[in-house]
Amino acid sequence: MFKLNDKANKTIDLDIAIIGGGSAGITLAAKLLNCSAAVIEPRTPAERDCSWALWADHHQQKQFATATKGSWRQWRLIDHHTEVLHSSDHYRYTSLSSAQYMTQCESNLTADVALVRAAAEDIVATGKGGSFTAAGQHYKAAQLYDSRPPKMAEPSLKQHFLGWEIRTKSAIDEPEIATLMDFRVDQSRGLHFIYVLPFSDRRLLIESTMISKHLEDKDWYRQAIKQWLQDQNIEIEEKLREEIGIIPMQAVIPVDTDIASIGAASGAIRLSSGYAFTGIQAQIGQLAQNISVGNYSVPAPISPTLIRMDKIYNRVLMAQPELGVTMMMKTARALDADGFARFMLGCATIVDWSRVILAMPKIAFIKQVLRR
Ligand SMILES: Cc1cc2nc3c(=O)[nH]c(=O)nc-3n(C[C@H](O)[C@H](O)[C@H](O)COP(=O)(O)OP(=O)(O)OC[C@H]3O[C@@H](n4cnc5c(N)ncnc54)[C@H](O)[C@@H]3O)c2cc1C
Repeated sequence: MFKLNDKANKTIDLDIAIIGGGSAGITLAAKLLNCSAAVIEPRTPAERDCSWALWADHHQQKQFATATKGSWRQWRLIDHHTEVLHSSDHYRYTSLSSAQYMTQCESNLTADVALVRAAAEDIVATGKGGSFTAAGQHYKAAQLYDSRPPKMAEPSLKQHFLGWEIRTKSAIDEPEIATLMDFRVDQSRGLHFIYVLPFSDRRLLIESTMISKHLEDKDWYRQAIKQWLQDQNIEIEEKLREEIGIIPMQAVIPVDTDIASIGAASGAIRLSSGYAFTGIQAQIGQLAQNISVGNYSVPAPISPTLIRMDKIYNRVLMAQPELGVTMMMKTARALDADGFARFMLGCATIVDWSRVILAMPKIAFIKQVLRR
């Protein structure tokens, strides 16, 4: 492996450079073989730690075991009237420590792939490749991939949340169930729910999540969490950490359209749900295979049909936000656990789709399908 100091003040030539070592960038870097490469990432995994959730099948449960913080074969959605409880033997709703996942990928880099802990600057695209500097060193790569977080057009629909990981004073009920959406909270500012992952009977991740165009003050989400805990008679012994996220639910704009984007910048975030991890894994797995046979083009992370369906779903949400709770609850009720997991993973069968379509409020959807 080359070392920065060995070649100080000279240009380092690479086959591949990856800007950004997050979910997509570090996954790709860890899969590269037989080429000289560098992944450029200014922050350590610990500085970016948060919970990444996915529905993991048996293979993925093993694959991600060392980064898994918790996994549940049961999950539920709740509103004021009812609870939908799903139990699956095939999928587990799985929460990963992003820091552990990225640390593991970093430790799997081969000797020919360098991790440069600095920001890429003065990036100039030339054909498929380009040049840049990082930590004062100049680099040139025949192929450049860019995973810097994309921009969102404003105002645009987004999922925004603030979460606390807490230790409770006493054991909570039903720690074996993940609560994906509890809608029994203030709905006056947009579609709002509480998300709860019990890592044990005394350790929880609890998030106040909004789907709307406008962010709230941090204290607004904190108050919603406090209120929900009070309603459930759960007392906090210790607040362990806080996480904040803003995830686009409309098309995004890559930082530089002249460079091949990967990950969220290439549209890997599912527009209707905000989940990205599974799509990124599939995209990067395919890209690494392509690269091994000399094809450097980036596969689309999500099919155009799915993007169209998600856009219609979101248009209904934007036009009639008051239907949001009903749409989510009806989607969950229309499907069994495995169908719901497939739907969220973007691999729903025709039968799954038919069930969801039949359950949706027809007039609201027809209006948006017919809209130009
Ligand atoms: C708190 C939180 C919780 C989340 N929960 C989930 C979840 O449960 N499930 C899910 O699927 N998704 C979740 N997400 C979304 C998920 O994190 C993103 O969709 C995913 O990380 C996108 O991967 P990416 O590689 O495209 O971008 P990122 O992972 O954001 O990586 C981009 C990297 O580029 C780096 N960078 C920026 N500028 C430069 C530069 N100039 N030079 C070099 N590097 C640069 C950044 O430091 C960053 O590490 C969550 C996000 C947050 C914030």
